[in-house]
Amino acid sequence: MSETPPATAPSGATTLPLVFEEPRGRKKPPRHLADLDPAGRKALLEEHGLPGFRAKQLSTHYFARLVDDPEQMTDLPAAQRADLVQALLPELMTPLRTLEADKGTTRKTLWKLFDGALVESVLMRYPDRATMCVSSQAGCGMACPFCATGQGGLQRNMSTAEIVEQVVAGARALARGEVPGGPGRVSNVVFMGMGEPLANYKAVIGTIRRLTDPSPDGLGMSARGITVSTVGLVPRIYQLADEGIPVTLALSLHAPDDELRNELVPINTRFSVAETVEAAWNYARTTKRRVSIEYAMMRGINDQGHRADLLGDVLRSYGDWGWVHVNLIPLNPTPGSKWTASDPADEREFVRRLEAKGIPTTVRDTRGREIDGACGQLAATED
Ligand code: SAH
Repeated sequence: MSETPPATAPSGATTLPLVFEEPRGRKKPPRHLADLDPAGRKALLEEHGLPGFRAKQLSTHYFARLVDDPEQMTDLPAAQRADLVQALLPELMTPLRTLEADKGTTRKTLWKLFDGALVESVLMRYPDRATMCVSSQAGCGMACPFCATGQGGLQRNMSTAEIVEQVVAGARALARGEVPGGPGRVSNVVFMGMGEPLANYKAVIGTIRRLTDPSPDGLGMSARGITVSTVGLVPRIYQLADEGIPVTLALSLHAPDDELRNELVPINTRFSVAETVEAAWNYARTTKRRVSIEYAMMRGINDQGHRADLLGDVLRSYGDWGWVHVNLIPLNPTPGSKWTASDPADEREFVRRLEAKGIPTTVRDTRGREIDGACGQLAATED
C-alpha cells in the first residue's frame, strides 16, 4: 500500500451545494422515536407530560417486535396508549403502491410522506440474505444525466425516522411471512434508492446508528451489512471514515478520467477523479473495509478497453492490498436517456482487463428492472 496519506480533505472550487439547506419555516416531518437516541426519547415523552420510562416499551414495539398496531401494545396503560403512540410513534408515511417481480421476492414500494413528497424503496430477497434499498432524499440534486432520479431534481432531505421506517417496513413484511421464502429478516441495507446520502449526512448517520444499535434501542444490524453509496462528496467521505462505524462505502465512479466523469457525474467538476479515489482509498485504509467502485456500463461511452485499463491503473496506484473491488452495473433504461447498456462482449472484455490488473470485478444483477425498481430507475410518480 502507498505510504503517502492525504493531509486533509481537499476542498473544491465550484458552487454546487454540498449540503442541502432546508428553506426556513418549512414544516418538518413528524418527530418519531427513530429520530432520537434512548435519552432523547425519554426526554420527548416527558416534554409531553408522559412518563419517560415508557420510551423503552415503545422502542421494543417498534424495533424488536415490529408492531405497528397500537391495539397490540397491551403493556401500555389503555388510557395513555394513544398519547404515548402519538408522541413517539406518529405516522410517518403511507404506502401508495407495491409492485412485485421475481415471483414476489423483489418488491418496490411507493411511499407518500407527510407533506406529499413521494419516495420509493425496494426489498430484494435472495436465498441467503434480504436487502433493503432505501431512499435518503425525495429526489436528488446531483443531476447525473443517466439516472431517472437525477432528472427530477431535489425536493427535500428525508428525516432519520423516514429513512429508518423504510427498513422497518421491510422487516415487518419479512417477519410476517409476506415475502415468499418464509419468515425472515433484513440482513442488508443499501443507501442506493433516491437521493445522495452524503448530502443528507446527519440524517444518514442517525439512520446507521438506529440500524446498528442493539435491540430494542435499534434494529441490532451489523454495520457490515450496510452500504452507503455516494457520487463522491469528498469531505463527507473523510468525515464518514472518522465516524468509527464500519459500513461499506460504494463510490459511483462511472469513468476513470475527468473529462468523461465531468459529464456523467457533474459533481466531478468540483472533486476530481484523483481527489475522489483518494478519499475512497483513505476510507478503506481507515475502516479496513473494502470499497466498492460502481461503474454503470454505457455502450460506447465509458466501456472501452482503454478505459478499463485506465480504471485499473488508477485503482492500482493506491496499492494491491485488496482495498477495492469494481462492481459493474449494466445500464438500466430510464425515460429519455440517450444511452444504452454495453454489449455483453464489451462487458466481458472490461472485466477481463480489470482482473488482469488484479482488481476483483463483479457484475451486478438487474433485479427489479421490469418494475422500474433497479439502479437509477426510481422516479416516484403516482401514475
Ligand atoms: N446517489 C448515490 C446513490 C444512487 S443509486 C450514488 O450516486 O451513488 C446507486 C447506483 O445506481 C449509483 O452508482 C448510480 O450511479 C447507479 N445508477 C444510476 N442510474 C443508473 C442507471 N440508469 N443504470 C444503472 N445504474 C444506475
